[in-house]
Amino acid sequence: MSAAQSPGDAGAQRLNATHDPALKSWIAAANRPRGDFPIQNLPFGIFRRAGTPEPFRGGVAIGDQVLDLGALHELRQVSGSAADALRACTEPTLNAFMALGTDAWSVLRAELSRLLREDAKDASPLRSTLVPQADAEFAVPARIGDYTDFYSSIYHATAVGALFRPDNPLLPNYKWVPIAYHGRASSIRVSGQEFRRPRGQVKPAGAEFPQLVPTQRLDYELEVGVFIGTGNALGHPVSIDRAEQHVFGLCLLNDWSARDVQAWEYQPLGPFLAKNFATTLSPWIVTLEALAPYRTSWSRPAGDPQPLDYLDSPQVRQSGAVDVQLEVYIDTARMRAEGTPSHRLARSNFRHSYWTVAQMVAHHTVNGCNLEAGDLLGSGTQSGPAADEAGSLLELTVGGKQLLTLASGETRTFLADGDRVTLRGWCEKPGYAQVGFGEAAGTVLPATQDPKENQNAK
Ligand code: MN
Repeated sequence: MSAAQSPGDAGAQRLNATHDPALKSWIAAANRPRGDFPIQNLPFGIFRRAGTPEPFRGGVAIGDQVLDLGALHELRQVSGSAADALRACTEPTLNAFMALGTDAWSVLRAELSRLLREDAKDASPLRSTLVPQADAEFAVPARIGDYTDFYSSIYHATAVGALFRPDNPLLPNYKWVPIAYHGRASSIRVSGQEFRRPRGQVKPAGAEFPQLVPTQRLDYELEVGVFIGTGNALGHPVSIDRAEQHVFGLCLLNDWSARDVQAWEYQPLGPFLAKNFATTLSPWIVTLEALAPYRTSWSRPAGDPQPLDYLDSPQVRQSGAVDVQLEVYIDTARMRAEGTPSHRLARSNFRHSYWTVAQMVAHHTVNGCNLEAGDLLGSGTQSGPAADEAGSLLELTVGGKQLLTLASGETRTFLADGDRVTLRGWCEKPGYAQVGFGEAAGTVLPATQDPKENQNAK
């Protein structure tokens, strides 16, 4: 069987009745134009009613509501294999559902689409399973065993490389190896995360010795998160043709970064404390199946090397990329107090990625490394070719040398205490519904306590 006929990847990318742009829901808010959560989207998350001791369980976003999958399961309206998939969604993480694989994800999506259509029979009992999103609190949607952050935007890699190594911006391995580092899962939180400005060891230019200080160059990174669904056995690589069968879906990811700490610590083993103090995810995972209409071709710029065979396939060339529009907004404490609207810092698009999701999975496992259900991959900062398509302040301010002026008149090079950064993302294409990712927002709090002061206080 050729790669183009490979059953799984073609399946995840094939259009079906759930993508029909004419579909409408009996939930009116789902039919509003340009909303994030029309019936064609149906992203999965983990939620409960805010301020209650209810157990967290699976939910699907529809319009301005969450369809409570735990309550739907109790209605006993769903049968067969869709009921088995639904039962897995009653757990406090999506890991069990993710591990069921593409057929189970697809069967449940089809069933939910049928139940939520405006012409659905027996819709009325389902009204009792709806929770307004405004009344919900969300959790990280999976128990993330391992988190790997890639570096898949060549525009970001080149711009950042030029700041850290002016004479040698893009290292010679970049166009051959999907570069990544193993990150830390314990500090990953869902949108709404508040975290203290980290302290770290920095060595300012001209200083004789390094010092431990609160970071002065706190930054965000605009990234796409990739949730692994089914894993692979240790010692058994995933081929490029089957790679997307292992991917449950995509979300938004902010890889907060302390640039001064990073500059001092990153050689020779890569990021460590500059990155592992906080990572913020959007609550919703948009499934790969929902993203089928927005797939687009992938290619290498003329003159760049073609990928090695294990990273190449007709499917990757034809539709390996995903056209996800991305935006970053900032609002400062003063902007919130004065009611000033959020200031958009940048727009970008995941289709510019130098490496595709399938290439990341194939490369991650080529040595036999095992991925597991609920593992998270970060795409790396998604900067585009234009200067205003930069996915970090490091790029927008050229390493902190150019002041940014915000809508409030305030200026920034890097983030100040009280700043909130919000990532947004959506897909649109003529003839198809617009589907959104919601948002990933996080707020910077004043610095962590100096460990020395803490010690003296005792
Ligand atoms: Mn990153």
